[in-house]
Amino acid sequence: MKFFDLNLSDPGLRGEIDQAYGRVMDSGWMILGPELAAFEAEFAAWCGAGHCVGVGNGLDALTLTLRAAGVQAGAEVIVPAHTFAATWMAVEALGATPVPVEVDPLTYTIGAAGCAAAVTGKTAAIVPVSLYGHPVDLEPLMALARRHGLFVLEDAAQSHGAASNGVRTGSVAHATAFSFYPTKNLGALGDAGAVTTNDAGIAERLRRLRNYGSDQKYVQQTLGVNSRLDELQAAFLRVFLPRLDTANDQRRALASAYDAALSGSGLTTPAEANWARHVYHLYVIRSPERDALQARLKTAGIETLIHYPIACHLQAAFAHRGFKRGDFPLAEALADEVLSLPLWPAMPVDNVRQVALAVR
Ligand SMILES: *Cc1c(COP(=O)(O)O)cnc(C)c1O
Repeated sequence: MKFFDLNLSDPGLRGEIDQAYGRVMDSGWMILGPELAAFEAEFAAWCGAGHCVGVGNGLDALTLTLRAAGVQAGAEVIVPAHTFAATWMAVEALGATPVPVEVDPLTYTIGAAGCAAAVTGKTAAIVPVSLYGHPVDLEPLMALARRHGLFVLEDAAQSHGAASNGVRTGSVAHATAFSFYPTKNLGALGDAGAVTTNDAGIAERLRRLRNYGSDQKYVQQTLGVNSRLDELQAAFLRVFLPRLDTANDQRRALASAYDAALSGSGLTTPAEANWARHVYHLYVIRSPERDALQARLKTAGIETLIHYPIACHLQAAFAHRGFKRGDFPLAEALADEVLSLPLWPAMPVDNVRQVALAVR
């Protein structure tokens, strides 16, 4: 059994993708054109945000937003100890210092208490991550940020459509970074990303930064980069966006089938806080015998993945920060114990039964 399937052979979907491709080919306009403008408007509306700026990928969405927010080299940025390395790398890209905070062991997200303890005179921003599809409890984080004058950038690369107290991800933090990597809840057919924000100034700076510091051809107001969401990917995303609510509902139904099938198995299954709408980018269980379990599932023909096997503070890429084993015990335990089970929106529910049988 596969871990994931993009389901691109679905005939209805394929027809619409072909139409989107045809539209862009007929227009002859490939970069910064009407498809991107339309997608930005549609995604901003979907998130309930004032602005959306498309960029080349999720990492650039994070890096460019921290830059647009004025985070300087040497500043400290609070990040989860347990996350994908991109969250930390965005901070490093500015010459700023990632300051890790342990996640909550149930939601795998950072909270206001842990962040408050990490704030110093150098703290400029907090980058909470809605990991695996579980949203961050943003209101207390925003209150903390107001008290200390911090910028809050939510990393929502895994949580398109997640919600806290009924409010969708993408409209609450000062800015929210999304990845549209193909396997994300909303995925393109290549690399793409975006930032949503209610701050017109941040949106304007992002539009310049993504395009060589320019909003008028060959006039460079600031230094910038080349990180644009191209017309083809924008056109494809416009096909996937109207399907996202249904896809998230399918993920949630499969997750509750997993919950039921695995209850009483002794494994830790994902939690959903009572204020949260989880969108199950991944269905992640925890087991102290994770490696043996993964090997047995592989023997049974079931593909699983580990998100993520090495805690960020122990990655060679961050060795210059001088962290050592034991610094973040929960992050280290999670790296040893988490296992992601097969899940994609159109996965047959019978797969859940097969996986649960093999797990038991
Ligand atoms: C995927 C991901 C990113 C990076 O997105 P890319 O589009 O691959 O650059 C950042 N943060 C998290 C949590 C992710 O899962």
